[in-house]
Order: sequence, then structure tokens, then C-alpha cells
Amino acid sequence: MLLFTPGPTPVPEFVRVAMAGETIHHRTPEFEAIFAETRELLFKLFNTDEVIMLASSGTGAMEAAVINLCNDTLLSVNSGKFGERFGKIAVASGLKNVEIKHDWDTPVTVEEIIAAVKENPSIDALAIQVSESAGGLRHPVEEIAKAVKEINPEIMVIADGITAVGVERIDVENIDCLIAGSQKALMLPPGLAILGLSNAAIEKVGSGKGYYLNLASEIKKQSQNTTAYTAATTLIIGLGAVLKHIDAGEGLGKLYCDTARRAKACRFALEAIGLHSYPQTPARSMTTIDDENASEIRKILKEDFGVNVAGGQDHLKGKIFRINQMGLIETYEIIGVVNAVELALAKLGRREFDGTASRVFTETYFKTMLEKSREK
Ligand SMILES: *Cc1c(COP(=O)(O)O)cnc(C)c1O
Repeated sequence: MLLFTPGPTPVPEFVRVAMAGETIHHRTPEFEAIFAETRELLFKLFNTDEVIMLASSGTGAMEAAVINLCNDTLLSVNSGKFGERFGKIAVASGLKNVEIKHDWDTPVTVEEIIAAVKENPSIDALAIQVSESAGGLRHPVEEIAKAVKEINPEIMVIADGITAVGVERIDVENIDCLIAGSQKALMLPPGLAILGLSNAAIEKVGSGKGYYLNLASEIKKQSQNTTAYTAATTLIIGLGAVLKHIDAGEGLGKLYCDTARRAKACRFALEAIGLHSYPQTPARSMTTIDDENASEIRKILKEDFGVNVAGGQDHLKGKIFRINQMGLIETYEIIGVVNAVELALAKLGRREFDGTASRVFTETYFKTMLEKSREK
């Protein structure tokens, strides 16, 4: 079965092999050396002043960010399930919440954020997804962060990059906290979350809040290459392997470039066979299609072609399907996926199969290469 869900994503074989060794104790020089090396590589990925690894799913890092960086009112953006979650975390933590709500295909605008910040002087933190996975959209986070800081540099900007870190370069100049999760673009099993923090964020954390999710305890320990509680040793070893692999190859630039080309080629291929891309501003992490036959298409993909793609949640259940673009994906695999979608449409009697999807994918994906070779 080909796993093409936007989280969990497939774990490459070299990563599984790296994680197959015996369990090592976390309070040893051996593990501290691995931790230090992984931490160094994380700094390259995040470009932030500090990085913290937490043994939790992504939501744990979202909660850690909110409770440690917001003291009064959290402004959150609900264009999907994950944005909605930030608001729920704020309320559960006894904080006030101002929420900007949109359909799941609609990103928030810079103007809406500016208006909310000006209207509510008690807002001391903003939490937003870079890529909102519920509908596969990209929010203009960098522009928003810049605008917020221009109004009030004290407002903490928390960016959930769980389906963005490792997908594309994120400008962190005005971002105080950037969150990643192991099972999405980082190509690992679930269970590890990472927070990149600015110096301003470290200052606001102060002595921290909460107990397990108290970021002050982790900042103190992790700057000494250890963790406050038992580290997720196996996952950190895996993360080190992923980051070393990327670093030793053509680097992050190549990963970002391949992901962007793949996402674009996949969307063009599916649009060429009459499908509709759901989000107004598609994220590069996934291709999201809204379709009345979404459930049938997913079922055919799974049963006839062994391809597992994700559906929608809540009101989008049965109305969309989402194809992962994150991580190291072989080109022939994604070509197989778009071809299978075209075959599924043929099976449903919607169009005659003529190979358009794989042709358009190939043309789009290899376009720059074809142009270069023609110039020669
Ligand atoms: C997957 C995801 C999360 C976190 O989910 P967990 O199940 O807690 O790992 C948060 N935000 C986004 C955008 C996601 O895609």
C-alpha cells in the first residue's frame, strides 16, 4: 500500500534502519552527542534562536506554545480543524480567545488580522497555521507576522508549521515560535514535536508555565544537550538520520524545490482531468481536491490501486480528498497516483482514460529540465 496521506507520511527505509538499533539510555554521553548533532541540524532547518524537542504529538507543542507565550488573549485563525484547535487550547488553559473564522478553503487576510489586533488591545499572542491541513491551504503568515509586529512588537507570533517545516523555506524574521511534528514533512513516525523559538519568545517564557509542557525547563536542559524528562531517543535518532541525509545530499534547497514542483505538477495533472483544487491558496504540503465522488475515488484508489489518500473531516467528510506532497517521494510513485486517479474517474464513467494526468504531471514536473536540454 502506498501511503499518500498528509500525515502520517511514509518513513524512508534508511530512517527505519537508523531507528532499529538497541535502545540507549538518554542520560549518557552517547545520547547527548546524538542530541547535540541533531540540535545543530535543527537550527539549520528552523533558523530560529532556540529549538526544543518534545516527546508529544504536534498538539503538545501547540499547547506548550500557547500556555507559555500567551498570558491574556490569544488571537487565532480558524480556517480548519487545526486553527480551531488553537482556540480550544486557549479556552482550556483559561485564556481569552479572539477567533477569525473562515470556510476551510479561505485564508485569512493581513487586513483582518490588523483589524482584530487594533480592536482588542488585550491580544498578546497570535496563533496561526502556515499550512492548514484541514483544507490544504496556505495562510500569508510571513506578511501577517510582519504587520502584527509593526503594530505591537510585544505580541508573540506562534506559527504552526507542522505541514510546512521541511516543505518550504519559512521566513522567521517576525515569527516567535515555529512548530513542527515528526509524522508530517519530517518523515518520521508520530511522537516527536519541535518548537523553534525567538529570543523574544525565550524572554516571554520567563520561568515558564505548566509542568510537562513548561518551556523554561526544556530551554534550560536542551541547551545542555539533554531533556527535562525522558527523551524520545528513538525518534531523535531517526530525526538525526533524516536531517543528515538532507544535509549530505543537495540540501534543503533541493527538498523544497522538489516538493514545490511535485505539488504544482500534481495539481495541474488533476485539473487537466477536470478535477477542482479546493483551497483558494493551495499549500505545497498537499493537493486537496473537492469532488462529489471523493469517497468513491478514495475507495477505488485503495482497493484497485493500493493507494491510501486522506479524506476530509467534519463538514468536508466525503467531499474532499487530500494527496500528500511532503517528504522524500519518488517521482514514479506520485505519477502512479495521478494515473490511478484518472483510472478511478474512468471507472466511475466520468471520462475516458487517455493518460492525460500522467502526461501533464510529467510535462509540468520536468518542464525546466526539458527546456534546458532543448537550449543545448
Ligand atoms: C497534523 C497537524 C497537527 C498536529 O496533529 P497531532 O495529531 O497532534 O500530531 C497540527 N497542525 C497541523 C497543521 C497538522 O497538520
